[in-house]
Amino acid sequence: MLRRYAEALTPWALGVAERMLLDVNARDLANWRALTAEMQTEIRREILEAPTGERTKELLAQQVTLIKSLPLEAAQRVHELTIRGLEDGTRAKEIAAEIMRSGEVAESRAMLIARTEVARSSSVLTQARAENAGSTGYIWRTARDGDVRPSHKAMNGRFVRWGEPPTLDNLRGHAGCLPNCRCYAEPVIPD
Ligand SMILES: [Zn+2]
Repeated sequence: MLRRYAEALTPWALGVAERMLLDVNARDLANWRALTAEMQTEIRREILEAPTGERTKELLAQQVTLIKSLPLEAAQRVHELTIRGLEDGTRAKEIAAEIMRSGEVAESRAMLIARTEVARSSSVLTQARAENAGSTGYIWRTARDGDVRPSHKAMNGRFVRWGEPPTLDNLRGHAGCLPNCRCYAEPVIPD
């Protein structure tokens, strides 16, 4: 039943992800328009008219899968807590309180997905447009505040090849593509 419920969410999840991607894409294009205002017409066209359809389709499919995983994960959590309660009766009250918190857990997981996916989509589209103009990499930039993780802070100002995403805290990805990462890629465009 739960799996059917997750499936029933598909049209809604598609709509949410599509709206988000349209918004991210419009912002990415606006950034590029400003950035390339003084570049040669040809390079400018290569960037602004880059074919991003395939990347967008992939992003959309991944996001729909992530959104649909929310009710299944919440159910799994309740299931596991219930089993623990059965094994250890003395902790029933504590476990009941944990089960009641499942809504909060699902909400914070939804927030993490939303934040991470917006940044990741933006990064993927930026990469697609930069590569179309012959860019081989970018300068890693952080949000430059106290919340930046040390591993990400160490990347600030460094050149990264599009084909070689670094591994930070055991996770591999480009600026803006890691969980809760607010860093961004400043593309390097060849002369
Ligand atoms: Zn970061």
